[in-house]
Amino acid sequence: MPPLAAARYPDLPERPRVLVPVGATEQHGPHLPLSTDTDIATAVARRAGERTGSWVAPAIAFGASGEHQGFPGVFSVGTTVLTEMVVELTRSLALWAGEVVFVNGHGGNVAALRTAVETLRAEGHTVRWLPCAVAGDAHAGYTETSIMLYLSPEDVALDRAVAGNVQPLPDLMDRLRHSGVRAVSPNGVLGDPAGANARAGAELFDRMVQRIVDELR
Ligand SMILES: [Zn+2]
Repeated sequence: MPPLAAARYPDLPERPRVLVPVGATEQHGPHLPLSTDTDIATAVARRAGERTGSWVAPAIAFGASGEHQGFPGVFSVGTTVLTEMVVELTRSLALWAGEVVFVNGHGGNVAALRTAVETLRAEGHTVRWLPCAVAGDAHAGYTETSIMLYLSPEDVALDRAVAGNVQPLPDLMDRLRHSGVRAVSPNGVLGDPAGANARAGAELFDRMVQRIVDELR
């Protein structure tokens, strides 16, 4: 089926399941585009949509990226506004969609999604959120670089890829929360893109999709 935004309304089935990618527009190191999280969430939702007969909405491209402020290119609406966005969007979609599933590609959005889904469920809506999740480094490292090399290699400036702070995320979390990414990693990378490749990216991507498909079935 076509992307939802390309559909004509008489062609929509009754009460379709709608997947809404939720991304971010924020720095992804010197080598990945600002749209990385939105690109990955959209691609995962599309593939999962094909496999489960779900329609894929246009992405929410602005998320809660406060921890990345201090870098040029960051568009953050924050947790409160994102929560409201998810709540209002679902109330609107619920008038014709059977189920709304937010497919999240950015860790900073989790608090908003949790709060919004809790509020919406209390109102009786059929809604949930699912992460694009695999084990790996946190931000613009091996994991995301490999996935982007698989999805759109022309958007990866591999010659500019450098390691950032490679400490495990849990060890960095306190400083990250208080002082932001720039304080722990001046180049914006959390992890190391060295060795990233499209074949590994395909496997990581397939695992993300499979987790979502399993949840939807
Ligand atoms: Zn990312």
